[in-house]
Amino acid sequence: MIRQLFDDEHEIFRDSVRSFLVNEIKPHSNHWHEQGIVDRNAFRQAGEMGLLLMWADEQYGGAGVSDFRYEQILIEENAKFGDAGFFMTLHNRLVGPYIGELGTEEQKRRWLPKCVSGENILALAITEPGAGSDVAGIRTRAQDKGDHYLLNGSKTYISNGINADLVIVVARTGADGGRGLSLFVVERGMQGFERGRNLKKMGLKRQDTAELFFNNVKLPRENLLGELDRGFYHLMHFLVEERLLGAVGYVATANAAFDLTMDYIQDRKAFGQPLADFQNTRFKMADMRMQIDIAQNFIDHCVLEHNEEKLGAEDAAKAKLFSSELEGRVVDECVQLHGGAGYMDEYPICRMYLNARISRIYAGSSEIMREIIARSIGLDPRKKKLQAANTG
Ligand SMILES: Cc1cc2nc3c(=O)[nH]c(=O)nc-3n(C[C@H](O)[C@H](O)[C@H](O)COP(=O)(O)OP(=O)(O)OC[C@H]3O[C@@H](n4cnc5c(N)ncnc54)[C@H](O)[C@@H]3O)c2cc1C
Repeated sequence: MIRQLFDDEHEIFRDSVRSFLVNEIKPHSNHWHEQGIVDRNAFRQAGEMGLLLMWADEQYGGAGVSDFRYEQILIEENAKFGDAGFFMTLHNRLVGPYIGELGTEEQKRRWLPKCVSGENILALAITEPGAGSDVAGIRTRAQDKGDHYLLNGSKTYISNGINADLVIVVARTGADGGRGLSLFVVERGMQGFERGRNLKKMGLKRQDTAELFFNNVKLPRENLLGELDRGFYHLMHFLVEERLLGAVGYVATANAAFDLTMDYIQDRKAFGQPLADFQNTRFKMADMRMQIDIAQNFIDHCVLEHNEEKLGAEDAAKAKLFSSELEGRVVDECVQLHGGAGYMDEYPICRMYLNARISRIYAGSSEIMREIIARSIGLDPRKKKLQAANTG
């Protein structure tokens, strides 16, 4: 399928990203896999290449490029030639914009330049042991103490949790539920901020995922990000882009799995013929190609809508839901077509299969995506209850 959304400049950028990933990132993958974390230097190198926070204004060291297609290219190339554990996009577009859009001038000047250079690595801490999908259940609390806030609580499953220098933490500042949440920037080295172990995971072994603990962390008032008690609304705003970022990555992984399986089935022979010649293989590959192309088309459409600031939460949810489920089906089918080799760690498809399992859970699980879509088509029991209460 010929994709219509890239022009020559995008393709030149794609080539430079690819050579960076092939030369500077890929060679370290196995080492990072063993150590369970990407070297911080990878972020510095990406910073030197101008690949971090490309959207940031030049005055903060960025390139002022807000065109989402450049990030899309980074994600696609990383899925194919880089390392699934290198969470550059989380740093770039999932967390960075919280500072870029919500930060005061002083905050942007203070934090953005080192995020652009890769000296500071970012993380976003929403999830808690008792609150995942249900963000309104967050219990980490920031008490107003006049000239500062006192932060207490803990977070879990935080990506870049070990490497991060700046963590955007969602904490309760007001009433229970969604309304009383605020965002704070917690900095490496603050007294009372501790990290737990690097959690052992099913996949994404090269990505550091950690618990974070806050014991009476004294946060200057200047570390409040965005509006007090508006944290939930800020999160909902950024989750649209987060889901699109995920969708771009999941379909890119499905594509990469498809490509390497194409090579495998033509090499591998059984019963005197390449696997590719069996009707079953050809039909499976045809089905996968069709589904990936259709998904890609929808996601590319969403990318263009997002560039025009028109992408709605329900379309982002559809993109995330469909592409993560597709990725799951494709990597599973590709393992099957690899036979026993697909179960061996040394074959990339094995790691892709393990990595992909989380895509249906984080950034809003498939069930939460279905909730959002169902509500968008008018199937919302909460509204019915509200109407009943108002009329009754
Ligand atoms: C590798 C990894 C990286 C992560 N990175 C981060 C990070 O950087 N920052 C961060 O804050 N969090 C992160 N998370 C956490 C992730 O976002 C949560 O795991 C996710 O939101 C699900 O929350 P939970 O684990 O508490 O599951 P739960 O919310 O307990 O859900 C359990 C099951 O119940 C279902 N469920 C829940 N509510 C409903 C409902 N209303 N209707 C139907 N079904 C429902 C869910 O879909 C799921 O199947 C990460 C997790 C992992 C595993």
